[in-house]
Amino acid sequence: MSGGNASRNALRGSKMFADLHLHSVFSDGTFTPEEIVAHGRRLGFAALALTDHDTVEGCARMAAACAAAGLEFIPGAELTAELGEHELHILGYGFDVTDARLNAALTEFQAVRQNRIREMVARINQLGVPLDGAAVFALANCRAPGRPHVARALVEAGHCGSLDEAFERFLKRHRPAWVPKAKMAAREAIQLIHQAGGVAVLAHPGLNQCDEVIPALVAAGLDGIECYHTRHGAGTAARYLNFVRQYGLLVTGGSDCHGLNKGRPLIGGVKLAGHYVHKLQKALAGGVRVTAVAERAVK
Ligand code: AMP
Ligand code: ZN
Ligand code: FE
Ligand code: FE
Repeated sequence: MSGGNASRNALRGSKMFADLHLHSVFSDGTFTPEEIVAHGRRLGFAALALTDHDTVEGCARMAAACAAAGLEFIPGAELTAELGEHELHILGYGFDVTDARLNAALTEFQAVRQNRIREMVARINQLGVPLDGAAVFALANCRAPGRPHVARALVEAGHCGSLDEAFERFLKRHRPAWVPKAKMAAREAIQLIHQAGGVAVLAHPGLNQCDEVIPALVAAGLDGIECYHTRHGAGTAARYLNFVRQYGLLVTGGSDCHGLNKGRPLIGGVKLAGHYVHKLQKALAGGVRVTAVAERAVK
């Protein structure tokens, strides 16, 4: 699904940049893959990755749209994982989207997400709010529904005035309709991505406050850290660039765009330098685990 040598070399140009963290309507984003690519092209991106939560359903359409627009496409997914007390998001890149084991695991986690939606709706109903579960699934219209879909359905049915109100009243951690999510172990997520031929990257560590688990993740095979992210300031990016240097990892970055944010698409706010993408593609093409270096650094 990735481009040839010409586009890889083009990514080395000093003005080439990428967004490697994007969500579509196939999880809780509001843009179709084609709309994301249209924005990416307008903004001058050379490469895009699709990283929907626990699904690769949108990758085929995104690949076709990128090819038509002359952009490099990197298939991806954002897996919900845990290590100890921490919920972590592990980004997978460049794997075979048809890999049977990966797809079997994703199907399992999609079922978990769907059951969780049913449980959240039941709790909301018990509180006297007649939200229709079928309406949530119709609105989500994807295999990996999440809390934002419940929030949107609550707003559309007039039960809440805004998405924020829906999260505050019902859906935030420890609110009455919050249901914890079964997650895969971080090591399992990394192995799943590796056996499908991809690289595994820790998403937005600045949001998770989990620096103490980084050595364990590296020992489990982590290949990279998302240093650049919409919600990472310059100091946060610098902190994770230091971890990257310490362990010999890849650097990634992206906007984590889910659609419009305060009336504007979030894509465009983070521009990952093309040379980082080139390194990521070299790691994928070589099949040489970046972690062979990283594991030595941990010992
Ligand atoms: P889930 O994966 O179902 O637990 O949903 C997580 C998603 O909900 C995240 O990707 C956020 O975009 C969104 N989210 C979490 N908390 C809030 C909040 N307080 N307001 C709006 N969106 C939120
Ligand atoms: Zn999301
Ligand atoms: Fe995330
Ligand atoms: Fe994300």
